[in-house]
Formats: sequence, structure tokens, C-alpha cells
Amino acid sequence: MIRPIATLALAAALLTGCGGSDAPGARNANPGAPEAAAPAAIPAVLSTRSAKQLFGTEARASSQASRPYGSYAKGCAAGNVQLPETGPTWQAMRLSRNRNWGQPVMIDFLEDLSRVAARQPGWNGLYIGDISQPKGGPMLTGHASHQIGLDADVWMRPTDRLNLSASERESISSVSLRRANGAYTNDNWSRAHHEIMKAAASDPRVARIFVFPGAKVRMCNEETGNRDWLRKIRPWYGHHYHFHVRLACPPGASGCVDQAPPPPGDGCADAQAWVNNILNPPPPDPNAPPPKPKRELTLADLPAQCTSVLSAR
Ligand SMILES: [Zn+2]
Repeated sequence: MIRPIATLALAAALLTGCGGSDAPGARNANPGAPEAAAPAAIPAVLSTRSAKQLFGTEARASSQASRPYGSYAKGCAAGNVQLPETGPTWQAMRLSRNRNWGQPVMIDFLEDLSRVAARQPGWNGLYIGDISQPKGGPMLTGHASHQIGLDADVWMRPTDRLNLSASERESISSVSLRRANGAYTNDNWSRAHHEIMKAAASDPRVARIFVFPGAKVRMCNEETGNRDWLRKIRPWYGHHYHFHVRLACPPGASGCVDQAPPPPGDGCADAQAWVNNILNPPPPDPNAPPPKPKRELTLADLPAQCTSVLSAR
């Protein structure tokens, strides 16, 4: 049953890109959740534009109570806060994208994790990639997820300098840790990567971490202590220049839709199966249905609260 799962996952990855999910569409529906006040109808002028055009051009967060609305790949974020561009143990990268915004729990988490990273040899903290747009929502370029202020990309590049200029943060690249298409790690891998991802996955705020399969297998093989944290490390396509942290919906955030938890166990056999599929790709399934063309999300596809988030100042 492993190959069909991986094949399905591949189809999903092609559709969703970075950090989609490892159980696409499988979420804990929350049908009984009370809804916050929302406009009864979407203004006509908004309904004709795609949601990514509307959210992708918002420069500032809404001054509302902080709330994630909807799911990681179909939602928005009220009251996001901005990760300071530079802190004692982090720098936000690619500032021109204006994606260093997240829910307060995410900003707190990243600052905490950067302090852990700063204790690793050769590391002074973390370089933080995309979190969310000021109001979350779909993006004009890149990610399918990162919409509710609870996803963040953390660079694999060892964070030595914390005095990078704005232009350096545009031009410097992260480093790739993969070899053989993600089946194995390369010489850029260090124990610090293991320790940082372990700390992230051990944090109760974290629901999942996406990283390339070879990294998970290496951590599985080298972990000699408690293995519970490995359950949250999920093999995924890409994710060799950064790892992707997904937080759970914060307590009480009733409009936020969690993803189903990862299957029980450390997931190491599944990660090894991904590696085996990379090394020996199964033949394409002649009966596989063609991938459905992806329709642009509109405001009507998002939770009703997103219309107020968009219009709030
Ligand atoms: Zn991501």
C-alpha cells in the first residue's frame, strides 16, 4: 500500500507546491464552530477578483483580534503581527516579499526556536523565510499553504551573520542539504539540523514539519533517545533549502481548521518507502486519473470572516 500512497502524494504535491500537506484534503472538520461576525454578502467589486490578487496586495495586517480563519491552504489571518526584521537570534529574509507576518503564536515560536538554534555550534540563530502575508490568504506567487499565519519556512543555511543588509537578504541563497534527488543528505548536513528540527518537533505548538525524505530517514537512523518527536517530521517534496513548520490551531481559535494528526508511530518506515521510491521509481499507473486543473480561489471559497479581514484597517 506504500506505492499508491506515495503516488497520490506526488499528484497532490504537483498541485499544491510547497508545504501542501501529507494528507491533502484530510482535515478535522469543525462544523459546529461558532463563526465571528462577517458581512452577509461579498461586495460585487471584490467578487470578480481572485483571492490571491486581493490578499497579495495588502500591505498591512488588520487591526483585529488575532485569529486564523479556515485551513492552511484556504483561509486568512486576522491580526497578524510582523516578525521584526532582525532580532537577537534571527533575521527575516527576502523582505521585499512582505511575508514576515504571522499569528502571535507563530512569531513567539520562531523567536523561541531561534534561541535554541543559537546554541548550536556555528549557528547564531535562524534565517526565517516566508511566513504569511500581512492578512494571510492566497499568494500571487509560491505557496499553496501559508495562508493562516501558522506556517513558516526556516532556512537550512547555518546562521552565522545576523547583520545581513536588506539587499544581502534578497541575494543570498540558502543551502541545499539533499543528494540523489532527496533520497539522502549531502555534506551540508550537520547535527545542528537534527537538533533544531528535533526541538521544533518537540514543541507542543507544532503540528507538523515538512522536510525531504532523506533528512527524515537520517534523523530516524541517528536518534538514540526518545523517538516521539519523529512522528511530526513528515517527508515531502522539495524542502531541502528550508524546512516548513506548521503549527496547530491555537487553543480557542474556533474558526481555524486543523489538519488530521499524523498517523501513530515515528513514521520512519514510511519515510524509508519514500526514499525507496526515489531510488526506484514505480512505473506510472496507467489508470491514474489526470490531475484536476486547479481553479483560482475566490473570496467566496474562503471563510466568510476573510471578507472582514480584507476590509478591516
Ligand atoms: Zn513552506
